[in-house]
Amino acid sequence: YGDYNQKIDYVFKVVLIGDSAVGKTQLLARFARNEFSVDSKATIGVEFQTKTLVTDNKTVKAQIWDTAGQERYRAVTSAYYRGAVGAMLVYDMTKRQSFDHMAKWLEELRGHADKNIVIMLIGNKCDLGSLRAVPTEDAQEFAQRENLFFMETSALEATNVETAFLTILTEIYRIIS
Ligand code: GDP
Repeated sequence: YGDYNQKIDYVFKVVLIGDSAVGKTQLLARFARNEFSVDSKATIGVEFQTKTLVTDNKTVKAQIWDTAGQERYRAVTSAYYRGAVGAMLVYDMTKRQSFDHMAKWLEELRGHADKNIVIMLIGNKCDLGSLRAVPTEDAQEFAQRENLFFMETSALEATNVETAFLTILTEIYRIIS
């Protein structure tokens, strides 16, 4: 514990995708650093953060990639998806359109990524429950049909963020080991 020289058994690349402003950067900040900032980044360019976890006596380094704004220009490149073993497909539950675009994102993901990639659908901003525009059942149905894991989260309140990442990482580990 706390030993950064320990050997890494696995590196799992997980990509975050979805429309601009759904909360991808804040989900990553919450998971990797337990932070949330109201004023999000304005930087353009791919970025990733890592978090090292121990499961089953194995050290897993999660390398989580954020589009960092590329999606605004429809410029998420194939390099972004290369080597990804997991993907978080994020929508904003208060923005119907961001959910309606999930099919497009999924198509792009499936066109670029490995066919065994583990995918989780994330309905973020569940702290804004009174503004909900996407019923849980709609998302559940979509997830079931497309064979995705599904969770509703709040990066702001730290609801289900850790659980979501741990679920996808555990599933990746289960498949790979
Ligand atoms: P990205 O473009 O998908 O990376 O989205 P950001 O992470 O930059 O977030 C976009 C905006 O939504 C920012 O103003 C965030 O503060 C806000 N936001 C992100 N996650 C949440 C959340 O869980 N709840 C609420 N209420 N706001 C959030």
